[in-house]
This record gives sequence, structure tokens and C-alpha cells, in this order.
Amino acid sequence: MTDASNAAGPGPFIVAIDGPAGSGKSSISKAVARRLGYGFLDTGAAYRALAWHVLDRGDDTGDEGSVLSAAADFPFAQGLDPDDRTVQVGATDVTAAIREPRVSGAVSGVARVPAVRRQVNDAFRRIVAASDYPAVVVEGRDITTVVAPDAPVRILLTASPEVRAGRRAAELDAEDATAVAAALHRRDASDSAVVDFLTAAPGVEVVDSSDLDFDQTIDAVIAVIDRRAPGVQRGADHG
Ligand code: C5P
Repeated sequence: MTDASNAAGPGPFIVAIDGPAGSGKSSISKAVARRLGYGFLDTGAAYRALAWHVLDRGDDTGDEGSVLSAAADFPFAQGLDPDDRTVQVGATDVTAAIREPRVSGAVSGVARVPAVRRQVNDAFRRIVAASDYPAVVVEGRDITTVVAPDAPVRILLTASPEVRAGRRAAELDAEDATAVAAALHRRDASDSAVVDFLTAAPGVEVVDSSDLDFDQTIDAVIAVIDRRAPGVQRGADHG
């Protein structure tokens, strides 16, 4: 490890990226990981998988007791390969299902339960610590502040609300962009009551992608990595 290793101890170097829905953080984080040969951890997928699990049990994510009981029996699996984003709950591949609007609409209910956050955060730290990648790009809402506050590279990826709603609508191929924007703003509002991902904590660099295209945003993130962690090991370039 270089002097840019995580203060928390040995294990891969962490690039922590937070941001709101539609900021592009998932696709950007994945592309950065591919380009640098790093692992990639989409932490929202765990919250989504748990929301799916609650719904699959016929329960409501608004009911904390149901969420806690689903979390106590949550055989969740997720890897770090940016080219394989498979997410499983037990033997069920939920990769596509967790992106459905019914899950997006229910996920804030599980994310607001403190015991759930502690449980998934421990799982994230274990997944990263056990990996062979030289570094892992970990993206979410509270990575720069709670999951990896000592990460040498911490970035808040933002974009204006209009740009975010437009990107998310395009991603989902939705006909009704207004409904998508409304759902996204509702989710941001409930999520930001739990974790503040709209303002950068001290030491966190802001990358505003409102006026950047996809490649320019990747370059902006890599420029922060180069500046914050010069000389850190690169893996094989996968893209
Ligand atoms: O990033 P994504 O939109 O997939 O996240 C889904 C949901 O998971 C968010 O709306 C939020 O409720 C929750 N989440 C969180 N903390 C994270 C990542 C996601 O609360 N680190």
C-alpha cells in the first residue's frame, strides 16, 4: 500500500462517491472503476434488494417491524466486478427487479431504519476488505461521511435537479418525464431527511456534472483521484 491507503487499515484503497439520484454517480463510478481496473460497489443495490425482499414477503417497507424482520433473514450477495452487477437474494437473481419503480418507491422505507444502515454498512466494509482489487469505487449516499469517512478520495457528485430528472427519465425510457421527476424528488426528500448527500462534508470534493457530458465527468473524477492519491496502484484497464 502507498501512503494513500485507508486510515482504517489494510485492504483496498477506497474511492468514496456520494450523490443524489440521477447525478450519474452509478454509471460514472462504474466507468471509473473499469477504466482504472478497480472494483465497484453500488451500495444502493443493497438497500434496493432489501426493499425487494420486504415486498416479496408481502410486507410494507413503511412498517419498521417488517423491515427489521426481513433484514434479519436477508441472504444478500453482490460482487465488485464492474462488468457483473448481479445482485442476489438467496437463489433469486434480483438484478433487474430492484430497478423497478415499485422498488424505487419503497426503498426509502428501509434506508431510514438505523439498524438496517448499520447492518448493510458492516456488510459493505466486509465485502471491500475481502477483495483483491487494488482499490474499490464505493458509491452511495453516506460513503464519504459514514461508511468510509477516512477514504483518501471522497467525492460528492452533483447535478442540477432538472438535469438529474432528465437523465433518470432517459435511463428508464419513461414516457412521462414529469412523473419520473416527481418520484425522484420525493425520494430525494425522504432520503435527505436521513443522510445529507446534497452538501459536501469537510474534505469532500464536489464534482458538478450539470454541464459535463459522460466522458468529461469521468475525467473530472479521475482528476480528483490523481490529485488526492497520486501514485496509487492501478489495476488492468477494462475499458
Ligand atoms: O443509489 P440508488 O438510487 O440505487 O439508491 C437507492 C436507495 O438506497 C436510495 O434512494 C436511498 O434510500 C438508499 N441508499 C442509502 N444509502 C446509500 C445508498 C443508497 O440510504 N449509501
